[in-house]
Order: sequence, then structure tokens, then C-alpha cells
Amino acid sequence: MKKIRLFTPGPTMVPEDVLLEMARPMEHHRTAAYREWVKEAHGLLQYIYQTKATVITLAGSGTAAAEAAIVGCCSKGHKALVVDNGKFAERWVKVCAAFGIEHTRLPIEWGRGAKAADIQKAMDADKSIDTVIVVHSETSTAALSDIQGIGKITRDRNAILIADGITAIGAIPAKMDEWGVDCYITGSQKAFMLPPGLAFVAVSDKAWQRIDSGKMPILYNDLKAYRKSLSDWDVPYTPAITLVRGLLWSLRSMKERGIENVWSETSLMAKATRAAVEAIGLKIYPKDPVDSVTAVLVPQGVDESALRKTMRSKHGFQIAGGQGDLTGKIIRFSHMGYVDMFDTIGVLAALEMTLAAQNYKFSMGAGVAAAQKVFAEAVK
Ligand SMILES: *Cc1c(COP(=O)(O)O)cnc(C)c1O
Repeated sequence: MKKIRLFTPGPTMVPEDVLLEMARPMEHHRTAAYREWVKEAHGLLQYIYQTKATVITLAGSGTAAAEAAIVGCCSKGHKALVVDNGKFAERWVKVCAAFGIEHTRLPIEWGRGAKAADIQKAMDADKSIDTVIVVHSETSTAALSDIQGIGKITRDRNAILIADGITAIGAIPAKMDEWGVDCYITGSQKAFMLPPGLAFVAVSDKAWQRIDSGKMPILYNDLKAYRKSLSDWDVPYTPAITLVRGLLWSLRSMKERGIENVWSETSLMAKATRAAVEAIGLKIYPKDPVDSVTAVLVPQGVDESALRKTMRSKHGFQIAGGQGDLTGKIIRFSHMGYVDMFDTIGVLAALEMTLAAQNYKFSMGAGVAAAQKVFAEAVK
């Protein structure tokens, strides 16, 4: 027998309880019962985001939320600064370009996160920048940006901060109100333990002012329409009812665990994984590692694509490779959502077995033992 376990940083594993919830008979959305769902989900989303702001739920993947945020906030006359430090950061540049939004790219070396000083310098150099776009957790390189520090800069300068929190919210500390994030987006298929298909945008008062005076054409992902419906706990268009049912289960379970505990458990998986790979002589790729996903450099002599293939076909573990320039150079492990310490020990054991089969020289079991030590320390 072989179990398939997803360790990819999206989609991630979905708990059996969520699958069962989503298998229940279809309900109609223009009902008092559905409005109760919308209301409860909204309150729980605010808790996960640590915010009092409106959180809009869209049907679509994360990019739908990115598009809604940018097109809503940036019409003619505004200028965005887009940090470019990985594959997902690049996507934000693409969204700006696709809609003809005036923007400046701020390239940062892959594997590093953006710091407050980077943003300060760029804004000092160009006073017309009134929008800053940063990926909180750059999933392609597993690097963390300092959203809290950057929020201090944008808040003082009366600019808005749009943050891609797709592998941050519900995984690592993300405090929208305290940090001063104006548009914070995420998607269902990462830390929320759901299939792909829902996207979320939390919008601050400052960002709503921009959206209310926006001039870009938009219909389906017009955040104003969703806000208007939400005032009656309603939705403008047919929602992804099945996914919203699953969402309620996921959000309730995260609330029950406590968001700080969710963050610290994710961090523990990352810590154990880093200890394990270092114990067998491998190196962590990013200079500023994030806790929601770990990227590990593939050692010389190891065939990355064969390694991933074997891990899946022989051992049932699906991990991710590198994207763009990192293709063939790194492997990535998710720590988000429905994953526990024994899943993590399992993927590390499979990694060791696969490396051994490729004649990589190390002491078999050393990585697993290092991870076990981290876990044993944490649960004692
Ligand atoms: C997964 C991910 C996205 C995904 O966008 P999709 O439209 O859902 O494919 C965007 N940004 C980051 C940081 C991600 O990790």
C-alpha cells in the first residue's frame, strides 16, 4: 500500500473532515442559512487575518485576488513599487503590466526578502510612489519579507501596502491591523487546508478610499460589489458554495487551535525540517528562510527530477522542485495546513531513502533523528 501525501506548497493536503463536509448535498445561497455561513466565515477570517477590516471572498485562485486588489487600488495617477524577488513577485509585475498600471520594479536577489530599508530607499528616490506591493512569503524561493517593518514605512508616508500573504496567512505571523497592511490577499489551497478555488482580499479603510475613487474597468472581481452584498451577509454572484462549506470547517478548526498555535506548529515543522536536512549535509537555499515552506539546495551528483519522481512513485510523497532559474537546483517542502510531525518525519525518511538510492553519501537516519529531537523537545 502507498499513501499519497502532498508536501507541495499549494495545493496542500485536505483533511478528511473537510472532504466529507464538501460532499454534503448542495444548498442554495439565497437563503438565511447561507447568510449565516457568510457571516460566520467573515468573523473567522477576520480572526485569522488579525483584523477588523472587511475580508472579501472571491471564487478563483490567488491571482484573482491579486488582480482585484491592484485593479481596485491603482488607476491612472497612482504609481506602484513592486518588489521582485521571485516567481510570485514577478506575477504581480505582470498584473501591473497587463492593466497598464504605472509601476517600478524593485529587484531583490532571489532567496532574500524585502526589508524596510529597501522600501524606504526606493520611496525616497521616487516621491510619486503611493502603492507598495510585496510578497510576504515568496513561495518560489521560500524567503520571508519584513511586512511589519515595511508597514511602518508605508503608513508614515500615506502610501498603501498591498501584501501577497498566500503562503503567510494562516501559517506564519501575519497581523494586518497592527502591521498596517492595506490589502492582504490569500488563497484557499495553501494554509487553509482546502482545495484551490477561493481567494481572499482583506481591505483596510485607507485602501477602500482608493478603491472607491478607482477608475479602472472591472466587473466580476469588483471589490465594491462584494462589500455592498456583504453588508447583508450576501454575495453578488453565485459563490463556490461547496468550498465555502469546507472553509467554515477549516476556519473553525484553526480558531479552536488558536492562531498563535497554528503559527508555532508551522514553525516547528520548518525547524525540524531544517535541522534534518542540515544533519545530512544539505543546505537551506534562502538567506531569509520562511517557516511555511522550506527550500533545500540539491547537492551535486543528485538528479533533482529523478529524486522527486522516486519520492512520489515509490514512497507517495509529492514535493516541489524549483521554478524559473531554480529549476533542478532546489526542492521544496510545505509546512502548511494539514500536516503533522509524523508526516514530516515521513517525508524526511523518504528523502533519505531516495538520496541513498542515488548514492549520496551521508549517515542514513541522521536527518530523521535530528527532526525527532526537535519534535521531542517541543512536546516534552
Ligand atoms: C501559490 C501562490 C500564489 C498562487 O496563485 P494562484 O493564482 O493561486 O496560482 C501566489 N502567490 C504566492 C506567494 C503563492 O504561494
